[in-house]
Amino acid sequence: MSTFLADFPIKFTCSKCSREFSQLVRDVKAHGQVVCPGCGDTAKLDEAGRKLLSAAEEEIARFARSLR
Ligand SMILES: [Zn+2]
Repeated sequence: MSTFLADFPIKFTCSKCSREFSQLVRDVKAHGQVVCPGCGDTAKLDEAGRKLLSAAEEEIARFARSLR
């Protein structure tokens, strides 16, 4: 994975307090989970989360290609 992708933020919505926050692709991949800055709830990346992550990566890759 390129550095560009690793530094891209992904948006999450907390399932407990509905707070919206973003985490870097790098952090999400490294920990396999996201922590809500509002209530501290830890959400593990489930199947849906992994799909979201790969969809986001595709989106980012497309965006990167369009810049050239
Ligand atoms: Zn929360």
